[in-house]
Amino acid sequence: MFCLVRTEQDALKHQGISYLLVGIRQPGVTVRPLVQMTRQKEFNEVFFDNAETPVDMLVGERGKGWNVTRSTLKHERSGLGGLTWSLSMFRDLVKLAKEVEIDGRPAIADPKIREELAAINGELMSLTYSTYRATSHDVHEREVGWFATMPKIYMTELAGRIAKLARDIVENDFVDMGGDKLKWIERFMISLSMSIAGGTSNIQRNIIAERSLGLPRDRHGERAPA
Ligand SMILES: Cc1cc2nc3c(=O)[nH]c(=O)nc-3n(C[C@H](O)[C@H](O)[C@H](O)COP(=O)(O)OP(=O)(O)OC[C@H]3O[C@@H](n4cnc5c(N)ncnc54)[C@H](O)[C@@H]3O)c2cc1C
Repeated sequence: MFCLVRTEQDALKHQGISYLLVGIRQPGVTVRPLVQMTRQKEFNEVFFDNAETPVDMLVGERGKGWNVTRSTLKHERSGLGGLTWSLSMFRDLVKLAKEVEIDGRPAIADPKIREELAAINGELMSLTYSTYRATSHDVHEREVGWFATMPKIYMTELAGRIAKLARDIVENDFVDMGGDKLKWIERFMISLSMSIAGGTSNIQRNIIAERSLGLPRDRHGERAPA
């Protein structure tokens, strides 16, 4: 695994952190799986007790791990902001809306559901073209803060909207849908976690505001001056 560890005690907040690779199969490392609300066990609590790692497992310079992690996070966020997940979920949603009946009519005939489907489709199209635009920027322009953060907010929130509409449709349906119903409820729960993973939407908005738009720094959580 990789760990961000404070190696310089007296350095300022983002300095003095080193990026280390650590073998997890060694004495002193205890991995305890966490059961998520989706019933899966995708990540763990990890405890270290005198665990060691060789010096050549340091990534980048000692005390400069924050710079390395910004790069790792950018990749994670652009992955989370990818189109594939939402597009395939939207295709499944349209199919679902055609199959499930509400009050004796296919769900897709319901004006409110049609309106939300059309709105989501519009958002997906605009995001598709924004992604093409971002992808065709040159490497230097991709370094700007919004490149990974903007699609990450937009896509994870849109995925949540798709999953929520599907969840509302399946919850309306009194016919036993078995695994399909469960699949959509799980997708809805996963969509909630995606807007948290890799940095919450609020934090992404702060990054865009401060690093791309040059707005004043967020004072959230800071102590009022004495
Ligand atoms: C599915 C999933 C996978 C994950 N995988 C990993 C992993 O592999 N490795 C890892 O290290 N971590 C992982 N995480 C943890 C993830 O990075 C954190 O949960 C996330 O960064 C949010 O931090 P937090 O949970 O401490 O929430 P907090 O920072 O405590 O935030 C709580 C709430 O307060 C809001 N908030 C906090 N600060 C501000 C602010 N300044 N301005 C406005 N609002 C604010 C947040 O938006 C949020 O709504 C994962 C999380 C999830 C859900």
